Amino acid sequence: MTSGHRPLPELSAALARGELSSADLVEDALARVDAWNRRLNVFLHVDAAGARAAAAASDTRRARGCLRGPLDGIPYALKDNIVARGMPATCGSRFLAGFVPPYDATVVERLRRAGAVLIGKANMDEFAMGSSNEHSAFGPTRNPHDPERVPGGSSGGACAAVAAGMIPLAFGSSTGGSVRLPASFCGVVGAKPSYGRVSRYGLVAFGSSLDQIGPIARSVEGAARALQVVAGEDPRDATTCRAPVPDWVAALDEGIAGLRIGVVREHLGEGIDPVVRDRVEEAIRVLEREGARVVEVEMPHTRFAVAAYHVVSGAEASSNLARFDGARYGRRADRVADLEELYVRSRADGFGDEVKRRILIGTFALSAGYHDEYYGRAMKARSLVRRDYEKAFARADALVSPAAPVLPFRLGERLDDPLAMYLVDALTIPANLAGVPALSVPARPTGDGLPVGLQIQAPVLEEARMLRVAHAWERVAGLGALPRLVPGEAA
Ligand code: GLN
Repeated sequence: MTSGHRPLPELSAALARGELSSADLVEDALARVDAWNRRLNVFLHVDAAGARAAAAASDTRRARGCLRGPLDGIPYALKDNIVARGMPATCGSRFLAGFVPPYDATVVERLRRAGAVLIGKANMDEFAMGSSNEHSAFGPTRNPHDPERVPGGSSGGACAAVAAGMIPLAFGSSTGGSVRLPASFCGVVGAKPSYGRVSRYGLVAFGSSLDQIGPIARSVEGAARALQVVAGEDPRDATTCRAPVPDWVAALDEGIAGLRIGVVREHLGEGIDPVVRDRVEEAIRVLEREGARVVEVEMPHTRFAVAAYHVVSGAEASSNLARFDGARYGRRADRVADLEELYVRSRADGFGDEVKRRILIGTFALSAGYHDEYYGRAMKARSLVRRDYEKAFARADALVSPAAPVLPFRLGERLDDPLAMYLVDALTIPANLAGVPALSVPARPTGDGLPVGLQIQAPVLEEARMLRVAHAWERVAGLGALPRLVPGEAA
């Protein structure tokens, strides 16, 4: 077992006891990336020299007895839409190939301050638009559990890196499920905090009323520790909330006795793979045995969520992506006659088909004469989804459902059918529309060893409760199964 397969808290403890050095962890991570990256296409950029230097600095701090906390010396990866000073950031797009940002995202700054060691940047769907990682301009990431299948998206590289034991921690972004969906497909823990919990300064914006950064780790405690470090108000992101960040790790062991767990009937019915349903029902029975009280709740408007999301996120994306015009960042078409041609050619050559589709949908939804019919109605549907949550949380303390309606599918299976691809997010999108925290923790895998994700949602700013429920399940079920990566296949 490589160190990347050991959960983060175990590695922190081993570092603190002096059994391992940060340099060991980094060498292990680099060797694992070397062995598997060609096959899985997880990392777009690896900074071996930077990581070695940061690890050496951490080991010196340890020797002097001045560690900066539980993440000091721990290697991690970033989805390639979160910027780190001096390290390429492509967002999975040809448009940004060669772009090197001159500053750190707030999460990166906080992780640096905590002593964590950045290894590199992980593959993703272009500009975070996708559910399978197949929309990356740099080729799809493959699922470590079965390389013929997708890892989920859009934070597919970040989740596959953790699942493949390359690193114990990664950060992704979620606009409609891009942390939970790939976490569920890869058999790792992925959390989307409440809207406003984590600063998006330095995250390349997709849908600004929806975007959140979230941690990915093998265990719930690992995710909690990582979230603890990056959460909290940031003057550089006006949407961050002032609420103090509670001690999430300390709250993990409080148990779930007496907690009301809401089961959304609509989310276990039609359109859900029977194996997924079976595994989630099994987890619900376990939570009941652990002392929770199971109640049924209704969320009748979540059936509008996917449609509303694509209008709202498309509208916001069409505006956010206007900055990629050939004049400022990355790609610039050459030999153009005028400014108009610079815009047109840079964007036509730089963006992939899915991104163009989103920009077109969004621009249309905002265009004069159609604004009320599309954007206005989508916002009304969003309010109805929010109200569903308010009602559900009046009866239940947390909600449990599948993270995804389907199992990890084969590469190419949904690529020509955008609607089939969009529907994979049906159960994750509602939490983004409402701003509530939600995570995916591995349920018991299928008979063939494919991961299944259990989604747990809680009211706004109640991450502690969400993590507690996930931890209660994980204590009984154990961590997600490791993939059977056969060394001979590495080439
Ligand atoms: N899969 C969804 C989409 O394609 C969500 C993406 C995300 O959360 N970044 O828009």
